Amino acid sequence: MKAVQYREIGKGPEVVEIEEPHPGPGQVRLKVTAAGLCHSDWFVMDLPEEQYTYGLPLTLGHEGAGVVDELGEGVEGVEIGAPYAIYGPWGCGRCHACAKGAENYCPHAAEMGITPPGLGSPGAMAEYVIVDDPRHLVPLGDLDPVETVSLTDAGLTPYHAIVSAKEKLYPGATAVVIGVGGLGHVGVQILRAISQVTVIAVDLGEDKLALAREVGAHHTVTSDEHAAERIRELTNGLGAAAVFDFVGVQPTIDLAREVAAIDSFIHIVGIGGGILPAGFFSTPMGAAVRAPYWGTRSELIEVLDLARSGAVGVHVERYGFDSAVEAYQRLHHGEVRGRAVVVP
Ligand code: NAD
Ligand code: ZN
Repeated sequence: MKAVQYREIGKGPEVVEIEEPHPGPGQVRLKVTAAGLCHSDWFVMDLPEEQYTYGLPLTLGHEGAGVVDELGEGVEGVEIGAPYAIYGPWGCGRCHACAKGAENYCPHAAEMGITPPGLGSPGAMAEYVIVDDPRHLVPLGDLDPVETVSLTDAGLTPYHAIVSAKEKLYPGATAVVIGVGGLGHVGVQILRAISQVTVIAVDLGEDKLALAREVGAHHTVTSDEHAAERIRELTNGLGAAAVFDFVGVQPTIDLAREVAAIDSFIHIVGIGGGILPAGFFSTPMGAAVRAPYWGTRSELIEVLDLARSGAVGVHVERYGFDSAVEAYQRLHHGEVRGRAVVVP
């Protein structure tokens, strides 16, 4: 079958022909209908050899959707042909975190060698993907898989970050979204759908700011040396009750700190390597800094229901397998508008 793999450190993704996988006991095979590209794929592929821990070759794709195609021994409750989205942050399934559905915070996954598809386990950027357990499948129903697949990460991750800041999203408050790419453009919509806050979106280019306005941002601000001042003005000097940084490089983290209000939440979602020194003299009084990871199983169900209601939607650029490498290059250069999705 065709797959998009990372095979050699520093060489980037390649489209290759590999053997078809078959499900082991308890596993489910999906015929892939869509797989999304995430900037985290580039985080992984940009790592130097001594820090790279994901195994080679790595079939990419941690945003996946497909139809059930083959069942491993003992699997019940899923039907051949039924369409599903894949919940990616797989946990042990037995601990306290997993019992709450928060497999994204399972403390045992790493030591047990359990890794998400596309981030250790073979991912969805292939004709077939193996899902380790039917509990990691969320029914898509009549949702279009190509339009929906990225909600498994570009929707779920901002949803988790935003819902866990809910107490700061009161009417009259302002939320700042930094980075209006795959995650950020869905984040803006989630904020509008579940709260009455004023949304200020920040990005580098006018095309990204235009997308932010299209998806519901009240104000847009160019990410430059005047951004903090402009956001202070827009908030009558008070700053934002919640800041979501979907970039996470040092300049955006500095901006997040500068525009956060007293007693605010600063959620750093982007993994750009920047650092926010939390302390009495470096963060606003009472502010809480958090680095959320992906989301819970019930939150994925909620995000898909939000899409079903029409309240959120992903702006999708479609690519065939043969242009997957080109799509990854566009993502690397910040040229994707919304999310790039590979359709087998
Ligand atoms: P993306 O490339 O689609 O979007 C990034 C956006 O940030 C782009 O619009 C870009 O123009 C903008 N940007 C870049 N530098 C900026 C700056 N200095 N100021 C303002 N805007 C800037 O990326 P994505 O797939 O949405 O991922 C966003 C980040 O989140 C990445 O670091 C990714 O690895 C990370 N991520 C984290 C989690 C998690 O669980 N914490 C999950 C998924 C992705
Ligand atoms: Zn991702």
